Amino acid sequence: MDLRIVFLGTSAATPTDERGLSSIAIARGNEILLFDAGEGMQRNFVRSSLRMNSKMKVFITHMHADHSLGILGLLQTLSLNGRTLPIDIYGEPRLVEFIKFSTKLIGFGLSFEVNLHNIEAEGLLVREEDYEVTCCEADHHVTAYSFCLTELERPGIFNIKRAVQLGIPKGKLYKQLQSGKDIVISGDIVKSMDVVGPRRPGRKIGISGDTRPTEKLCKFFMNCDLLVFESTYGNELRHKAIENFHATATEAATLARQSGVRKLVLTHFSTRYRSSNQLLAEARLIHENVEDAIDLKIIDLPYR
Ligand SMILES: [Zn+2]
Repeated sequence: MDLRIVFLGTSAATPTDERGLSSIAIARGNEILLFDAGEGMQRNFVRSSLRMNSKMKVFITHMHADHSLGILGLLQTLSLNGRTLPIDIYGEPRLVEFIKFSTKLIGFGLSFEVNLHNIEAEGLLVREEDYEVTCCEADHHVTAYSFCLTELERPGIFNIKRAVQLGIPKGKLYKQLQSGKDIVISGDIVKSMDVVGPRRPGRKIGISGDTRPTEKLCKFFMNCDLLVFESTYGNELRHKAIENFHATATEAATLARQSGVRKLVLTHFSTRYRSSNQLLAEARLIHENVEDAIDLKIIDLPYR
């Protein structure tokens, strides 16, 4: 299944001429999983190749305006473009209150159903057939969460040549073997493992939201194929990062290395940095595979 990450907003606190406010889309097959919706993020949604009427879930890391205020504009834009599929939104209880209150106040008439879900504790939020989304408490001024999208293991590779040698007819029996069940053919047992290889791992993607690096997050993001971690500051402003509950590029890269993350993407840059090159260079001293997010950048993430 195709999986790509599309950056819809990469600036911290206020937008710049080049960067909008926080929002990251993971397009997986026909579904979009959206993480954060900073003010005005729907503009980049429109400019991207993401489809308005895709199956969609939205997760909001915390209630600061640059991560949450854009949700109303997004809903309105989707509606005016004729969306019909329902949308599921996950966030702390104040988000649910905010959306209910604002939509009533503004008199929103939406063309689709909105299902609101309170995040009240860490752990499993969504379990679908082949993936799950979990959350972990982050360390910010206010209640904030980090998220992981983890694909479940996939069945192993089916050895058709071997199946033919064993005289197994195509169809139902192939499916049973692929799903791990043993079968009986002409009185002989054929074990699933005789024709199906070991199960294959799925992909794991982490989204930090705004946070200090913590031990807990280090465990939560363990072995991510791709981690998007905030990098508001460079190492020279570490005192500010501590004061404002953010991370530096050095800290993001250190955590990623400790967690065995394959690829790190830095985002959420303070507007004081005209270019993210300094932050990128800093992180690359610690982690060998680092990129900086740019609005509308796309990163395809194939299976390992
Ligand atoms: Zn922020």
